[in-house]
Amino acid sequence: MFNSLSDSLENTFKKLRGHGKISEKNISDALREVRLSLLEADVEFSIAKDFINKVKEKALGETVMKSIKPGEQIVKIFHDELTELLGGDQVPLDLNPPARILMVGLNGAGKTTTSAKLAMRLKKEGRRPLLIACDLYRPAAIEQLGTLGAQIDVPVYKPDASETNLVKVAKDALKWAEDQNGTVLIFDTAGRQEIDEKLIEELKDLHKFLDPKETLLVADAATGQQAVSVANHFDEAVGITGIVLTKLDGDARGGAALSMRGVTGKPIKYIGEGEKLENFSEFHPERMAGRILDMGDVVSMVEQVADKIDEEKAMKSAKRMQEGKFDFNDFLDQMAMIKNLGPLDGLLGMLPGMKKLKKQLPADALNTDKFKHMEAIVLSMTPKERERPEIIKGTRRKRIAKGSGTTIIEVNRLLKQFGEMRKMMRSKGKMKQMMKQMGGMG
Ligand code: GDP
Repeated sequence: MFNSLSDSLENTFKKLRGHGKISEKNISDALREVRLSLLEADVEFSIAKDFINKVKEKALGETVMKSIKPGEQIVKIFHDELTELLGGDQVPLDLNPPARILMVGLNGAGKTTTSAKLAMRLKKEGRRPLLIACDLYRPAAIEQLGTLGAQIDVPVYKPDASETNLVKVAKDALKWAEDQNGTVLIFDTAGRQEIDEKLIEELKDLHKFLDPKETLLVADAATGQQAVSVANHFDEAVGITGIVLTKLDGDARGGAALSMRGVTGKPIKYIGEGEKLENFSEFHPERMAGRILDMGDVVSMVEQVADKIDEEKAMKSAKRMQEGKFDFNDFLDQMAMIKNLGPLDGLLGMLPGMKKLKKQLPADALNTDKFKHMEAIVLSMTPKERERPEIIKGTRRKRIAKGSGTTIIEVNRLLKQFGEMRKMMRSKGKMKQMMKQMGGMG
């Protein structure tokens, strides 16, 4: 699922990372390729076009930040737009009493399996679901629901084989349900190979009688855009409240998932990812976007860091470093930024492969207590001392150690490290200057 789309996106990002800055030209080229892969994934044409336009607008707009690499920024834009395309927020079921869920869809989409999956899930959530077989055409479907219900220990209403009136079945089922002490009723209905008038008329009657809070269309993701048009048909007929997309475990290309919300305006509420009853989960647009992008949590990391770093300040201190002017005031600014990022441990944990790397670091490498001491020492200096640390001699050192609640050894160590750091920065600055001059000579 989504494999070729994921690959194509990964390729695009790789190419864009190669460019220092995003220009109209290189983003247009890259997005043309993405658009083709969307179409190959069977995404509806106008949805693909809209999507690309939105990404392009954002990528060329002011949202692309100055110092974070544009390649990473593009990933974030894609993540946000994919999330939006998939429906934005997760939409929960309306289970207010009387909680009735009508399952509709074509034959073979996975209605019966999904009814049982849903029942199992609701049961795990502490509700008391009941299953009602409303397929009067296929006795086998009634048996199938009965078997699944027994597996998960959920009562199943099975209509008499001779019954032909669907509304009567529903009426009897409601009466039966009263004695069952259930809280959610799930109605599994008959499907067809294709949508036909008779089926739709029957469904309309049933829908009118039950007035269900939820009417879920079960659609097979493998059928791509066809699943989307089926959803539209059922919606026109009975008004669906959501979609369950099944068989996402197969080699579906993803077009159904990506076009569904945009075309029908209805949220995907659950997904089926296997034949087993536990292969069923709530649909979260954001998580799915992450999966498509194969990015893990890097996206939220970029977001976290972007929020918390004061770019102007960071640039200023980088410049001062290069010019060899870096002093303890800049040092304090940097400390504040690092502290603002929160526990370094957690942040690094979001990077793929970081667990392994962390094991190789010295035990206290990420210990922020060390930073606290350093900061306390700097805060005990006078503004003059911060600007010109070379004036900090014997008695001043003693005073600073006392004021910061540290030891003279720690103060000495920090001053020494800082001195070396400055020396290094200065010599780097000088090197640059020399190179420039040499370049000018040639
Ligand atoms: P119905 O005719 O709509 O009631 O469909 P069924 O529930 O009988 O399912 C049709 C077939 O699809 C069965 O073989 C199911 O095991 C299979 N199926 C249903 N959901 C999924 C799914 O999410 N993944 C896979 N791989 N198979 C599924």
